[in-house]
Amino acid sequence: MAGGLSYRQLGTTGLKVSTLGFGASPLGSVFWPVKEDDAIATVHEAIRLGINFFDVSPYYGATLAEQVLGKALKSIPREKYYLSTKCGRYAEGFDFSAKRVSQSVDESLERLNVEYIDLIQCHDIEFGSLDQVISETIPALLKLKEMGKVRFIGITGLPLKVFHYVLDRVEPGTIDVVLSYCHLSLNDTTLLESIPYLKGKKVGIINASPLSMGLLTDHGPPEWHPAPEQLKVGWTTCADAAKHCRERGVSISKLALEYSLKNPDISTTLIGMSSVEQVRENVAVAREINIEQQPDHELYQEVEHLLQPVKNLTWSSGRQEN
Ligand code: NAD
Repeated sequence: MAGGLSYRQLGTTGLKVSTLGFGASPLGSVFWPVKEDDAIATVHEAIRLGINFFDVSPYYGATLAEQVLGKALKSIPREKYYLSTKCGRYAEGFDFSAKRVSQSVDESLERLNVEYIDLIQCHDIEFGSLDQVISETIPALLKLKEMGKVRFIGITGLPLKVFHYVLDRVEPGTIDVVLSYCHLSLNDTTLLESIPYLKGKKVGIINASPLSMGLLTDHGPPEWHPAPEQLKVGWTTCADAAKHCRERGVSISKLALEYSLKNPDISTTLIGMSSVEQVRENVAVAREINIEQQPDHELYQEVEHLLQPVKNLTWSSGRQEN
């Protein structure tokens, strides 16, 4: 394998994060059941191979992902990794109130067995009131920051316009990071349009779900995947693109991960992993990346052509008014 993993600055936080980040939602058995021992071995392999950014949420597997990640990280020196978790979204619903998010951070600290969280993110803000996030949630998180429980603050969501709404209304420097998902992958590149704006606001950019939450894999998406059927099955869909790649002897997941990792404006690309093999496979892809080489080779163009009919097709998420 060529070289090691690369690291990039996460906005102005000073955190130097591995370009390949560990998405821990699969540890909550959200894609399929994952045994605890396997989950722990997966996290340890990721650390061993140089991944230093772990993203989780109390929502994933109704706190299971946080519990398992906490167990895995217990034996790892705290300076070896950055930890990102979220607040406001739970198995029982959304609650962005100051009281709930403050309590939530305390619960996460306990489940994760740590004394501080590097990045706390308001989880899927389009499901809440954006004005509440601005006037109540963020100020509550700033208090936790003063107390040393969290180091940096972020927001996550599917519709890109919610980032613009919030960032245009908070003091510069209040929000350090945004996490966008399913908008910088082979089938959807809409995040590219917002990158100049986000860079202007000096926020770090995390891109999650480079495999479009399982759409760009050989096994396909889980049952709960919110994408319209047109994107999941049929003639001109991700499934066809995956088949086309298989016939060329390449996994579409490799191509998709490569695509996201190549973008130098993305500090870290979060991919969900739940086995040692997946970690090794994805780290190998990240190690081979040469960002000078544009993703314009023949297979990429063929896949882009196959995905053209569903290009940038997304789904509605959250409250209508957002
Ligand atoms: P993803 O696109 O990373 O896909 C994950 C799926 O791909 C899993 O089924 C996994 O087993 C599989 N996979 C991983 N490596 C593979 C490989 N080499 N070959 C084939 N299949 C492979 O989607 P995701 O897990 O939803 O997103 C990644 C992470 O980003 C999440 O775990 C979470 O931490 C974060 N995320 C956050 C939000 C949010 O905050 N709103 C939304 C989505 C994702």
